Amino acid sequence: MSVSPEDRDLIYALALDNAVKYGGKPSKGAVIGKFLHLRPEYKPRVKEILPVIEEVVAKVAAMGPERQAEELERYRHLLPERPARRAEEELPPLPGAERGRVVTRFAPNPDFVLHLGSVRPLLLSYMYARKYEGRFILRFEDTDPRTKRPRPEYYRMILEDLRWLGVEPDEMYYQSDRLELYYDVARELIRRGAAYVCTCSPGEFSALAREGRPCPHRGQSPGENMSMFDEMLAGGYGEGEAVLRIKTDLSHPNVSVRDWPALRIIDTGKHPHPRVGSRYRVWPLYNYSCAVDDHYMGVTHVIRGAEHLVNEEKQKYVYMHMGWKPPVAIHHGRVAIPDGVLSKSKILAGIRRGIYSGIDDPQLATLAALRRRGFRPEAIRRVVLRGGLKASLMTIDWSLLAAENRAIVDREANRYFGVKEPVPAWFPCERELVARPRRHPSDPSRGEREIRVVPEEGRAKVYLERGDVERLSPGTQVRLIALGNFRVAGVSGRGVELEYVDNDVERAKREGLLFLHWVPRSHSIRLDLLYPGRSYAGVGEGNLLSESVDRVVQLERVGFFRVDSVSGGSVTLVYAHD
Ligand SMILES: [Zn+2]
Repeated sequence: MSVSPEDRDLIYALALDNAVKYGGKPSKGAVIGKFLHLRPEYKPRVKEILPVIEEVVAKVAAMGPERQAEELERYRHLLPERPARRAEEELPPLPGAERGRVVTRFAPNPDFVLHLGSVRPLLLSYMYARKYEGRFILRFEDTDPRTKRPRPEYYRMILEDLRWLGVEPDEMYYQSDRLELYYDVARELIRRGAAYVCTCSPGEFSALAREGRPCPHRGQSPGENMSMFDEMLAGGYGEGEAVLRIKTDLSHPNVSVRDWPALRIIDTGKHPHPRVGSRYRVWPLYNYSCAVDDHYMGVTHVIRGAEHLVNEEKQKYVYMHMGWKPPVAIHHGRVAIPDGVLSKSKILAGIRRGIYSGIDDPQLATLAALRRRGFRPEAIRRVVLRGGLKASLMTIDWSLLAAENRAIVDREANRYFGVKEPVPAWFPCERELVARPRRHPSDPSRGEREIRVVPEEGRAKVYLERGDVERLSPGTQVRLIALGNFRVAGVSGRGVELEYVDNDVERAKREGLLFLHWVPRSHSIRLDLLYPGRSYAGVGEGNLLSESVDRVVQLERVGFFRVDSVSGGSVTLVYAHD
């Protein structure tokens, strides 16, 4: 029994994969083990395959790491898919968690869409609920109709983002539906002497708080506070004229914790809420509604960024006054995204000024933008999971995300020729030529595509990439991939004059000719390429018209793109990564 060429390729792929993972030196033992696992029929004849494996491992070991990585890209599709281990199984245990009793929540404010920075608390909360067979709650924190005004389209877009990420909430709430509950708890806090209505101006109050001194309202009786609170609800105070404060420790080291405000007045006549209009004037502040909801929704674990530490400190007073048991809070480190514009105000200002085309502009790190560029939720999940629950800063590097995504889309992406900045080239030619490159370089089963070069008046015309043309000078030889080897006869402002030499691909490799992608004029379409921050009106091979929207393709030597639109004779592609 000899080793078939297919199995030899598999051994090669395994050795490459092992070498790339472990610093360039493939381990013979690991390759043998994996190969026998995939092809158990060889087990009785290990001795016969051993020399083949040794030869392949030696060949791979002799390559440089760059060549190994390149070769792996070509052969990766032969490797079995990574075991479909459910992501949540890889998570470290959650402190105090019991199977079936874990309740987590994700609580976005629908004043904007989700972005890469939001996915860490979201996915961790969701995956932990799944890991422990508990419940996952989505809660819209939409209680600021004035400065963090929710917008109807963002409720919808957040749900779309979640669906795309594969997150299915077990329960969904809107805080704007729960104002009566917040009022009830407020009355109870007042009755317990744990909250008071304060009519100090913010300046007066903070001057006293800084000194650790109570304001005159702190000493009011529950009865006085109750009637003032009823007055707040009845419209007796204007915006900014009264707040309900939670009693804390006036000597708390963090001044903002000292008797923090729980409910305030918003003039919903001027600032109507998108869901409940002007029905309510007294609105909870973040820490108050959050504490009340976490309690009534039975949240057992709160997973959020370290920037919420002070919020936990504030919320614990509500729990203490009410005699509730606080959830376990786990604070993970901040998420940093180099070059990722995440600020809502910056993004919206950029859209108004035309710097960004919209929420899904390829320059942005919104989930809508990542989706549009062809990033897969699985790639995002893997990156987030790698950061785990650690309290340290987590940097989501674009190259890391690109590497995870490439590993997913490389297999499925068909290959095409497309030229970003076309420069004309021509060569003498009398009859039609047909190039037949593969749809996928390492998967012959997908077949070939056909690119016809139809000469006009004895010349064939093609487009080359401007960046490539700049490297050419008369006399140099190049290979037009799948077409042939050519000599450069001249380069001018009009374009490049070529002469056909031969079609010997081995010679081209041996002599290190520049391999160029190209598009024949007779078989070209308009290609709009949207990159972050710039776009190109290029040309592509006509076969691109057979792709459908949302698929990911690779333009050879250019990069991976998501098909954004196919219309008439043109295709728009959005750049994902190289
Ligand atoms: Zn006061």
